[in-house]
Amino acid sequence: MKRKLKPESLMMSYGYKPELSEGAVKSPIFQTSTFVFKSAEEGKAFFEVAYGHRPKRHDEEIGLIYSRINNPDLEILENRLTLWDEAEACAVFESGMSAISTVLLEFLKPGDLLLISSPLYGGTDYFIKKILTKFGIEVAEFKVGQSMEEIISIVESTGKAEKLALIYIETPANPTNDLIDIEGSKKIALHFSTPQKRIYLAVDNTYMGPLWQHPLKHGADLVLYSATKYIGGHSDVIAGACLGAANLIQRVKTLRTFLGNMAGPWTGWLLLRSLETLKARMDIQAHNAALVAQFLNKHPLIEKVYYIGNITEDNAAQYAIKKKQCLTNGAMISFDVKGGEKEAFQFLNALRLIKLAVSLGSTESLAEHPATMTHVDVDYKLKQELSITEKMIRLSVGVENSDDIIDDIQQALETIKK
Ligand SMILES: *Cc1c(COP(=O)(O)O)cnc(C)c1O
Repeated sequence: MKRKLKPESLMMSYGYKPELSEGAVKSPIFQTSTFVFKSAEEGKAFFEVAYGHRPKRHDEEIGLIYSRINNPDLEILENRLTLWDEAEACAVFESGMSAISTVLLEFLKPGDLLLISSPLYGGTDYFIKKILTKFGIEVAEFKVGQSMEEIISIVESTGKAEKLALIYIETPANPTNDLIDIEGSKKIALHFSTPQKRIYLAVDNTYMGPLWQHPLKHGADLVLYSATKYIGGHSDVIAGACLGAANLIQRVKTLRTFLGNMAGPWTGWLLLRSLETLKARMDIQAHNAALVAQFLNKHPLIEKVYYIGNITEDNAAQYAIKKKQCLTNGAMISFDVKGGEKEAFQFLNALRLIKLAVSLGSTESLAEHPATMTHVDVDYKLKQELSITEKMIRLSVGVENSDDIIDDIQQALETIKK
């Protein structure tokens, strides 16, 4: 029996035919807005399929039309991305936010109820609470650690349970690494679904994906990425992706066509290049993060470390979720320094190798201050409740030599003492 190749082995070739591009070993950048049809009949057939006027015949390839609808760099990228999550289909976008907002707009309509986990990525939180609500969409919110019964009663207490249309979660939560049960969230979706109406579950998997957690395997209908993070991985491109069953992605792609927020060919090409080293980069990042966490756990100037590797049997509920859905401990670590904003800022200002910047998942290590930066818009009381306080630092561990990363953290912590 022939063994199936692993995704990392397919990232250099899958979905690309060199004979269609003068034998070039790599896909060229198809920097073109439009594509020439061989005949008017062919153009007609392409449009019939692209606009859903008839289904694609089994042996038919969807033809290239216009780069807002399709482009080889985007199609090859979408095909390769499906391999990690074992998804039927993928749609790529010009940013993570455009992937997220397009999904929310496609699966919600005025009068609907949306259930979200808290905290969410700041941009997502803003889009949901400040923009979607303007269009008559109501939002219910649950927090890490709440039981299924509690979450169901949150939905019921809105008086609009029959209007629930979508559940949107993010796990691990940023920046605390608290875990939300994907399978449990699916059970809630099923609880409120009826034969006439299926409630979908969407998961933002940016923090762990696409290697370390596979939400579709745990019942999610849609998985979302800011491809700016691990997938791009070099802090040089903004992009997003959405994956799931072919019929759902077809809906997402149709709205994408009319919003016009697909990624361009240059972004597609950059991400194809990034995907070739995705596994290698993420392996090193997770390995380095474990060593950094080990160092932080023992340091006298650090009060608490928020790292998936620190979730043990003592915290039975979180541990059970971790065992179920996390394939590694990731490469994101948050920690509280002893003191407050002053001490946290002293630390951040003293870093030399690690860059003081938001974003995550890149080759270089990055550090930031959630309370005043990524999470500045989150309500103060909620921030306190979620442990996002003045003393917290968030660290994205990169691919540098682990001793160099640790030395940099150590020397920066030394400056706090003075
Ligand atoms: C960065 C990020 C986003 C937004 O992605 P962009 O590519 O910046 O638009 C969404 N969710 C999470 C978890 C993120 O980290």
